[in-house]
Order: sequence, then C-alpha cells, then structure tokens
Amino acid sequence: MEKLYAKKSLGQNFLVDGNVLSRIVTAAGIDQEEMVLEIGPGKGALTELLAKKARQVLAVELDNRLVEYLGHKFLQTDNVEIIRDDILRTDLPQILSARSAGRWKVVANLPYNISSQVLFKFMENREYFSELLLMLQKEVGERLIAPPGCKQYGILSVFCQLYFDISKQFIVKPGSFRPIPKVDSMILKFCLLPTPRVDVGDPSLFRSLVKSSFGQRRKTLWNCLKGDALGIGDKELELAFRRSGIDPGRRGETLSLDEFAILTKALAGGETVLFGP
Ligand code: SAM
Repeated sequence: MEKLYAKKSLGQNFLVDGNVLSRIVTAAGIDQEEMVLEIGPGKGALTELLAKKARQVLAVELDNRLVEYLGHKFLQTDNVEIIRDDILRTDLPQILSARSAGRWKVVANLPYNISSQVLFKFMENREYFSELLLMLQKEVGERLIAPPGCKQYGILSVFCQLYFDISKQFIVKPGSFRPIPKVDSMILKFCLLPTPRVDVGDPSLFRSLVKSSFGQRRKTLWNCLKGDALGIGDKELELAFRRSGIDPGRRGETLSLDEFAILTKALAGGETVLFGP
C-alpha cells in the first residue's frame, strides 16, 4: 500500500493523542445500543474506540487510500462499516434509515475546510440525529456559541442555536495531531432540541431574512433588506419594521433568535408589535 501522506486539501490532520481520543469518546457518552455516524474516519484511531462502545459505527470517508487502509484495519470488526463517499453529497436519509430506524449519534473530527457546509447538512437532516459531538476549529466553535451582539455571532450561530443546545467540552492543542495544524481545535456537543428554540413562522422567509441581515455586517438592517432584497417592497418593509417594534437602524448581528422570528412574522404580514411602545 502506498504511503499515507496527509492531504491538506482534505483537511487531513490525524489525531494521535490517546488521551484526547479517550476524552472525546467519554464526552460522547455512547451506550452499547447506540448507532454512531463518523465523518472522515481518517486512519481509524477514533473509529476503533467508538466501535468498542457502540452497537454500530458507520464511517464516511472520501479518500480512497484511507478507505482501503480502513478496510484492512477493520476486516475482523463486525460493527464497523466504511462507506467511500463525499459527506456533502451523501444521501444521509437513505444510508441511515437503511441501517436503523432509530436516531444516530454523530462523532467526528471534521475536515475544517467544509465544517460549515457539514453543519448545515446535519441541520437539514436533524430528524435522524440525537446528538453531535464535533471537533471544529476553535474560531468556528466560538462562532457557534456566540450570543447576539458579539463579533463572532453570525448565520451559523443563529441556525445552530435554533436547533441545538450547544456546549463547549474542551480545547485540543495543535500538538495532538499529525501533521500539526496551525490552529487550536474545540470539541462541542450539540443536543438536538425537541422543537426549534423559537417558532420562526415561515422557515424559508426566516432563512432569507437571516442571510440578508448578515450579508453586509457593517450595514443596518434597513440597508441590508431594502430594495426588494427579500422580494418585499420598501413600503411593506417599513410597515413590517413598525409592526415588529424592531429598529431598522440596528445591525443584523444585534438581533436575537426571538427578534429574527418576530421580524419574519411581521414581514409575512402576520404578527404585531411585541417590543417597543
Ligand atoms: N478522524 C480522523 C482523526 O481524528 O484522526 C481524521 C480526521 S481529519 C481532520 C478529516 C478526515 O475527513 C480525513 O480523513 C479526510 O480524508 C476526511 N474528509 C475530508 N473531506 C471529506 C468529505 N467531503 N467527505 C468525507 N470525508 C472527508
């Protein structure tokens, strides 16, 4: 087998620190009936420990060389299955429901270059999961738990906080990986809420509103949303702001989840003032 040099383009920084690996598995709190989905198993260091705890580990890996390596490594391990695929293209409902009707736990040291896209994919398919335990670049982790008004608060914070209770577990230093990355990493636990944290009204309007509001961070809400940005004329927009009681001179990054939901409903022409005089 060819030498397994790490591919930077695939975010390959392999975890080699046994202490960190076992802390991840402990934080995941897996019981023996659980089904675990791992994204990017790499050389299988985490996979091996997960397989000792879980009923089944399904691991999706893009790199052919690693898939071949893992095939040999787990030849004798009945509860590990490796799928060669790009997680961003994988039909998650299909592969998960074909194997178990229950909810899955995700445990992954994500490739950092695609972590936002993977998070959006998990959110779209959230009904298949109970909990996610993810290793992310520390800066991304900080964005996810940032409150409104904070520099790090953004689109990803709004959506993740809408669907999950997110708790920081611990920081992992670069020396725990090979090759050694330039950045610190953070382990976060995402517990799926039984229902979204707030009722957003029309989900697709909410999505467009949040995206447009953060489109140009230095601009006010009014400047981000005027001129038909949401398919809503300026007169109606002004009316919606008045109905919501939200000041159009504020910036998107200051709005809480509740306020985004209130503004969505006001834009849809429904709900009336909850804030202001
Ligand atoms: N889990 C291993 C560990 O902790 O040592 C490896 C983690 S490494 C940060 C990320 C892994 O994701 C690599 O094995 C890489 O090949 C894989 N990967 C990158 N892009 C992927 C994609 N689109 N779909 C599936 N796996 C991917």
